[in-house]
Amino acid sequence: MLLLVLTGSCFVLVWHTLRAQHRLAEVKNDFINNMTHELKTPLATATAAVETLDRFGLQAEPSKARTYLRIARTELRRLADLVDQVLTIAAEERAHLVLHPEVVQPANLVQAAVSRHQLQAGKPVYYRLEMVPDDVIRADRFHLEGAINNLLDNAIKYSTESVTIQVSSRRTAGGWQLTVQDDGIGIAGSDQAAVFDRFFRVPTGNLHPVKGFGLGLYYVRQVAEGHGGRVAVRSALGQGSTFTLWLPAA
Ligand code: ADP
Repeated sequence: MLLLVLTGSCFVLVWHTLRAQHRLAEVKNDFINNMTHELKTPLATATAAVETLDRFGLQAEPSKARTYLRIARTELRRLADLVDQVLTIAAEERAHLVLHPEVVQPANLVQAAVSRHQLQAGKPVYYRLEMVPDDVIRADRFHLEGAINNLLDNAIKYSTESVTIQVSSRRTAGGWQLTVQDDGIGIAGSDQAAVFDRFFRVPTGNLHPVKGFGLGLYYVRQVAEGHGGRVAVRSALGQGSTFTLWLPAA
C-alpha cells in the first residue's frame, strides 16, 4: 500500500512538473514570436526606405529623398526604443519598486487616467465612474496612477469594437478597494492565475493582434504588493473581466 501511494504521488508530481514546463515553454515562444515581429517590422521598413533611395537615385529629387530619410529615421528610432525597453526589463529583473506613499484622492487619479485614455482610444469607450469624490488614502501617487492606467489600457485593448468600463471604489474591512470592470473578450479560467506573471500573455497562436509585452499586470501586482495589498481577477471568456486592487489602510 505504502509503495502504491508513493508511486502514485511521484506520478502526480512528475505530471505537475511537466505541465508547468510546457506552459513556460509556451509563454517563452509567444514572447519570442511577438518580440521578433516587433523588431523585424521597423527593420524591414527602414531597409526598404534606404533601398528605394539608393535604387531610384532619389538624390536628384530632394523632397522625395527627405520623405524616405524621415521614414528610415522614424523606424530606426522605434527600433532603438524597443531595444531600450527590453534592456530595461532585463536590468530591472531583481529591482523592487521604491514607493513614496502620500495622501492621495483616488477619484482624481482615476479621472486623470480616464482623460488621458479618452484622447488616445481608437474605439468608442464608455466609462461608468463610481468613485467617492473626497475619499483619501495613503499611496504612492505615481505608481498607483500607473497601475490604474494599465488596467484601463487593458480594458480597452482586450475588447472588440467598443467597450464599457466601470471603475468603482469602496472602503473594506481594513483597507480600500478599486474595481475595474470591462465587457471585453474575457480571460479563460485556466489563464487567470498567470496573467499577473512577468511576460505572460494569453496564447493566441503565432502572433498577437494586440501589442504588448506581458508586463502591465505584473507591474500592477508589484504596485499592489509593494503597498502590502493584492490584486485579483474574475473573468469568463467572452463575458468581460473584473480586476480588483486592494490596498490596506495605512
Ligand atoms: P500585455 O497587455 O502587454 O500583453 P499585461 O500584463 O497587461 O500584458 O496582460 C497580460 C495578458 O492578460 C494580456 O496579454 C491579455 O491576454 C490578458 N488581459 C489583460 N487584461 C485583460 C482584460 N481586461 N481582458 C482580457 N484579457 C486581458
